Amino acid sequence: MSGIKVLVAGASIAGPALAHWLRRRGAEVTVVERAPELRPGGQAVDARGVAKDVIARMGLDAAVRAACTDTAGAYTVDANGQVLETFRADDDGGDGFIADIEILRGDLSRVLYDDTREGVEYLFGDRIAELAQDADGVDVVFAGGDRRRFDLVVGADGLHSSLRSMVFGPHERYLHHLGHVLAFYSVPNEFGLDRWLFEYQDQESGRTALLRPIQDATRAMAMFYFAAADFDVDYRDIAAQKVLLRERMSGFGWRAPDILAHLDDTPDFYLDQVAQVVMDRWSNGRVGLLGDAAFSSSPMSGQGTGLALVGAYLLAGELAAAGWDADAGFARYEARMRSFVEANQEIGRLNARSREVPGPDAEPSPDFASEWFMELVGRAINGVELPDYAGVPDSGPSIASSAKP
Ligand SMILES: Cc1cc2nc3c(=O)[nH]c(=O)nc-3n(C[C@H](O)[C@H](O)[C@H](O)COP(=O)(O)OP(=O)(O)OC[C@H]3O[C@@H](n4cnc5c(N)ncnc54)[C@H](O)[C@@H]3O)c2cc1C
Repeated sequence: MSGIKVLVAGASIAGPALAHWLRRRGAEVTVVERAPELRPGGQAVDARGVAKDVIARMGLDAAVRAACTDTAGAYTVDANGQVLETFRADDDGGDGFIADIEILRGDLSRVLYDDTREGVEYLFGDRIAELAQDADGVDVVFAGGDRRRFDLVVGADGLHSSLRSMVFGPHERYLHHLGHVLAFYSVPNEFGLDRWLFEYQDQESGRTALLRPIQDATRAMAMFYFAAADFDVDYRDIAAQKVLLRERMSGFGWRAPDILAHLDDTPDFYLDQVAQVVMDRWSNGRVGLLGDAAFSSSPMSGQGTGLALVGAYLLAGELAAAGWDADAGFARYEARMRSFVEANQEIGRLNARSREVPGPDAEPSPDFASEWFMELVGRAINGVELPDYAGVPDSGPSIASSAKP
């Protein structure tokens, strides 16, 4: 044991993944999560390329695959439900539009939490209220009243990261709204879905609706997507978000009215702006950022989860390799990750642009079949090296994960 104490804020994807790697490298890890328990819900997230390698190195390949959606592919349809295009899960070697590791965000979060809960201290229903760092450590006051000292603190607290605003400055400085809003929630599977998802896009209004099957065959996951130049709804005010969704999707055809009819009885609901986080630096002294908090590429990149998993591996590896020296460890993590992040953010921006409502000043839609775009996709999926960190302590995957199917 290095005796190094690390506090991680956020227990979704980036937080528990980092906790896994920090524990393996010998640190004592505490994760503080604002929500009272692990948050369920969210759309399917994908792991492609190097992110799949990270899952395998975590010893979680079987557990993650067992929790996957098992989606066979996707159909795009017109307003009458007629199929326009077909995408299969095994297209592009499993790294395509529907990736072969495709899992609901809440289910992946559960796998990562179950894997780490025994070796890591989780504090639910609390958050960092104040923080002060000096040359040797960071004093933290929790909203619940506890005061503790840590060697390092990492914010994995998402797009609207409080730690980021506390240490790096206001959200407006880093958050780039891409002009769209996304909402997800589960509905009863009264649509007869069976391993295929359906997507209906209305180019003229810039709106999309999607229905996908999930592991629980009695339910389906619905998604809505609409253009919104501004977004001023509080990201925690669910009632206001539902009002906004009803307003913006009114008059939309296909199965939208049936899906909207379940807005008040769904057990899970998520709506947020499609936004990216762009920062010059992801650390300040002994405080670092990871995942959406540091470098959200937006759901339009389809890679936010992959970035969080890869970033967790590199951050823990580089800190441990640097003998837990914050400056050196954070700097090397950033040097390894930055161009990988930038490729994914570029894809996110291009995808958002391709869904803009065509207008006289609209930029031409990118050519997704072009060679340069394929090259960009290659860099976004595989464009980062995962060092072996031979010589750095590694206690191996947890007993819990290696015992899983
Ligand atoms: C409920 C939910 C549903 C989502 N659904 C989708 C989706 O459908 N599609 C998609 O592409 N992306 C979705 N996302 C975002 C997606 O999870 C991320 O893009 C990606 O997986 C990177 O994850 P992250 O761990 O960095 O951030 P996030 O997944 O956003 O997790 C941040 C975590 O930090 C917690 N938190 C926030 N503030 C504090 C605080 N002050 N102190 C402690 N903890 C805090 C949050 O409760 C959350 O658990 C969702 C996120 C959440 C939380």
